[in-house]
Amino acid sequence: MEQQHRPIFVTRSSLPPFEEYLAEIRDIWESRWLTNMGEKHRALEQALAEKLETPHVTLFANGHLALEAALRALRLPAGGQVITTPFTFASTTHAIVRAGLTPVFCDIRLSDYTMDPEQLEGLITEKTVAILPVHVYGNLCDVERIRQIADAHGLKLVYDAAHAFGERLNGTGVAAFGDLSMFSFHATKVFHTIEGGCVCFRDEVYGRLLDGEKNFGLMGGEDRYECPGGNAKMNEFQAAMGLCGLRHLDENTSLRAAVAARYRERLSGVPGIALCAPQPGVESNHAYFPVLFDGFRLDRDGVAAALAAEQVFARKYFYPATNTFACYRDTLDCGHTPNADYAAAHVLTLPLYPDLPLAEVDRICRIITG
Ligand SMILES: *Cc1c(COP(=O)(O)O)cnc(C)c1O
Repeated sequence: MEQQHRPIFVTRSSLPPFEEYLAEIRDIWESRWLTNMGEKHRALEQALAEKLETPHVTLFANGHLALEAALRALRLPAGGQVITTPFTFASTTHAIVRAGLTPVFCDIRLSDYTMDPEQLEGLITEKTVAILPVHVYGNLCDVERIRQIADAHGLKLVYDAAHAFGERLNGTGVAAFGDLSMFSFHATKVFHTIEGGCVCFRDEVYGRLLDGEKNFGLMGGEDRYECPGGNAKMNEFQAAMGLCGLRHLDENTSLRAAVAARYRERLSGVPGIALCAPQPGVESNHAYFPVLFDGFRLDRDGVAAALAAEQVFARKYFYPATNTFACYRDTLDCGHTPNADYAAAHVLTLPLYPDLPLAEVDRICRIITG
């Protein structure tokens, strides 16, 4: 009964058993090595390289700084255009701007909310330097087509894979698809280090450059500051949380899958409700459960309000679209992105986390369907 009245948020951070984390951090009291690429950091980089099936992983204090560093490490000409989508978290667009580059907005496709490759090529100009697509909600972009276009035009390809941790396409880990891919390990993500993130890459030249970006310009050698890098190092306590989290990841993913399957069972076929179809060949991490309301008895905001009245707090991910942000309205060309505008106005993401009871999923669905 008590449980029924506890507020339910869109996500709830996973934690390992307290004793497990204590055991993991015990070494730190012996080494007194709290940050700056210590034992836990090394162990986590190695474990993640295996998990994400990538030759190189560089950890960061958070996903946003990882994305900024990935863009800086490409050494692109200042002001160069980076084609991206506006249906994403603020971080994606802000990272481009903060790295001294110019976002150009490509529309999304409504089947999975990722970059529409049919519109991508038409946006390429002589100023285009890179493409930055987003695997929104863990839905994978059309990675083959986007790679073809990037190669045909000699453009760098950086993925915002913040939502795509651990996913595979036809057996290939998602980190393989960009020159660089960023994953976020924020507390609310599928896998987390409290705050944290990483960049994965195949070409080892990026290793030194990313090291410089996260550690004041030091690229391995002592006393040689080779670029004006900032500070974005992951500390040992974060890395220890990641080492614990990895042990529980598979179990958590199965629990998420069960929640997602229950939503799908209850909500598919309801007139006025559209769900994303599972993508063929994709091993999903079930990061989010987006639902599009159009022609339903309530509009999206009405559904959110009905849920909130019952202490269920779904989120309007992603509203507003980043190309309509107040900070960009007067400074950037917002492009022509009708699908992104439509999605921002009609999509709600429902609560989804491993220990969300299926009975609560049923209750949420009953509130929605009325
Ligand atoms: C979470 C997120 C980020 C930023 O990651 P942080 O670790 O929170 O800094 C970037 N892009 C997307 C799409 C995200 O969801």
